[in-house]
Formats: sequence, structure tokens, C-alpha cells
Amino acid sequence: MGETNCPSCGLELADGETVAGKKQLSGLDVGICRGCGEIVVVYRRDMQVALRSATAGDYLSLPEDDQMVLRAAFEIVRERCRMRNETPLH
Ligand SMILES: [Zn+2]
Repeated sequence: MGETNCPSCGLELADGETVAGKKQLSGLDVGICRGCGEIVVVYRRDMQVALRSATAGDYLSLPEDDQMVLRAAFEIVRERCRMRNETPLH
């Protein structure tokens, strides 16, 4: 597994120059996995970009507005997953 795969579902999140649609937030680069909704922290290690799962502490250290953005993105991803996995009623 590469350094830029989601730590939760393994989806490759690097997309050219951006990883997980990351956004610089108060010193933390956070992004969200479009596959499973995992909130990931993007960091640099040996000149390489790597990801780790965001901890509750990371999340809570973000400004409230940013928490809301992540929560909304998380809900959208989860809803998409739910719709994809739902078995149609017969
Ligand atoms: Zn994921």
C-alpha cells in the first residue's frame, strides 16, 4: 500500500498535486477520503506526502467552521456509500 492510500479503506487518494482534496487548516492538512469518508491528515515525511487517520484530537483542534465542512463532506460520502450498497426492494 502506498503512502497516499486511505488508511481506512485503502483507496488511492493522491490526485496530481492534491491529496484527498486537502486544505490547509490551522497548521494541519486535513482531507477526506472520497471512498469511505475517513478524515485523514496529510503530512510530509522525507519529502514525501503521507497520510494518517485523523484522531479525535486533530478534529477537535480545528476551527468550528472547518469541523462543519468535514462533517458535511463525511455525510455526503456516507450517503453515497449507503445508496451504492443498498439492495433494491423487490
Ligand atoms: Zn477511505
